[in-house]
Amino acid sequence: MTQDRLRLGLIGYPLEHSFSPRLHLAALRACGLNGEYRLYPIPPGLDRGEKLKELLDSLRRGEVKGLNVTIPLKQEIMPYLDELAPAARAIGAVNTISGGDGLLFGDNTDAPGFLADLRRLEFFREGRPSTALILGAGGAARAVIHALRQAGWQVIVAARRVEQARELVDELHAIRFTPVALRDALEAISDWRSALTLIVNTTPLGMAPWMETSPWPEALPFPEGVFVYDLVYNPAQTLFIRRARRAGLKAANGLGMLVEQAALSFERWTGLDVSRAELRNAILEFQG
Ligand code: NAP
Repeated sequence: MTQDRLRLGLIGYPLEHSFSPRLHLAALRACGLNGEYRLYPIPPGLDRGEKLKELLDSLRRGEVKGLNVTIPLKQEIMPYLDELAPAARAIGAVNTISGGDGLLFGDNTDAPGFLADLRRLEFFREGRPSTALILGAGGAARAVIHALRQAGWQVIVAARRVEQARELVDELHAIRFTPVALRDALEAISDWRSALTLIVNTTPLGMAPWMETSPWPEALPFPEGVFVYDLVYNPAQTLFIRRARRAGLKAANGLGMLVEQAALSFERWTGLDVSRAELRNAILEFQG
């Protein structure tokens, strides 16, 4: 292996369905860089800590330049790092680690990735921040809520477990929210539905094996003129998106966010601003 070969990769478990290698290999190609993007599965088990430490040491020494982090390590990884970007600290999750000079730096590019994609969409280009309803209160919801709050949005959280939404709010102090159980959304939404301009699905409903499921109750009409954003990107047209479009609404899936967060991670590691179109094409070609 030559010294100038850029070594990048992904840690988490399981990893075999990840789109990240396709995105980062396309980024390396687009920038004319000699490099690799390897999967480093870290399955649960007694030696998990050891494996992590070993890999992080190679990052510290600069042998590996950067790592993405995915489920279930986005929070678990944090104590191993020397410094955190303000976004990663506020969200409580890291998806990008840069190494070198003996230090490890953790960042979260999901949040700016979501915001960048939202700004790319025509619907929001001119518009001022308003009120968004977030469905789900897991890791991705934290990034989305942080991003929206930073951009001046009012944020309402609807999660099936109210206590999870409350926990999230306690940790992310700055959020204004109304936690509602999804099953009660029908009643609760009547108070603020006219204020909503954006609904974001951050639950896995709509992806395999829940392809014929939507986080939005079928009996509940969509608020008028609202934009629907589904973080799920595979399949490209979830039931949530299909129903929203059938109701005459504009909708987008999470491919744009996926592309943006990858491009921003790549920029953290290389300083290069990679073409989003190249990354998007790498996924669209694969999806056919
Ligand atoms: P997560 O931490 O497991 O959170 C999932 C959330 O959805 C939790 O609040 C969970 O509630 C809720 N949920 C799960 N099943 C549900 C159901 N049947 N009804 C109602 N709520 C349900 O996962 P995550 O990391 O946030 O990821 C969520 C989704 O976002 C995944 O599909 C992931 O692929 C996608 N994502 C996309 C991007 C992108 O770039 N486009 C980035 C990150 C994530 P419980 O805790 O009660 O189970």
